[in-house]
Amino acid sequence: MAYNRAAKLRYQQKHRLSIARRKAVLYARHRRREIRKVQQHYTKHRGRILEQQAHWRRAVKRETLTHYGKNQTLRCCWRNCECSDLDMLTLDHVKNDGADHRREGFSGGAVACSWLKRHGYPKGYQTLCANHQLKKETTRKRREARRTHLWQRKSH
Ligand SMILES: [Zn+2]
Repeated sequence: MAYNRAAKLRYQQKHRLSIARRKAVLYARHRRREIRKVQQHYTKHRGRILEQQAHWRRAVKRETLTHYGKNQTLRCCWRNCECSDLDMLTLDHVKNDGADHRREGFSGGAVACSWLKRHGYPKGYQTLCANHQLKKETTRKRREARRTHLWQRKSH
């Protein structure tokens, strides 16, 4: 019988739960052996695994930052900024709630990019280069300090 990858994927999709259940039972029964197998596999193929992970991170980052980039291209959204270097581009929370998200375990790295992709790219994010990320934060802090200062002066 010819090996049919599509059919295999369909089967796995259809029986996802029962497969997971079977694997869980197997894992519980042979826990040590399963852990050792995974460790051995990792030790043997460490270089390739790390390379694949780096490749995946870069690909998912490129895809997400392109979606949130200027005109859906890999570019910083700041006015007149031409930065398109993937290494210098970052994901920005438009409403500055990045710190809250991070506290909830939302890193902003490839894992966050992957999460956004899985959830159909929700609104509220944009691609900014590291310079404009810094510029935005500095401006926000300055504005906040000024507001606090005015408020303190009024209350005395
Ligand atoms: Zn920029």
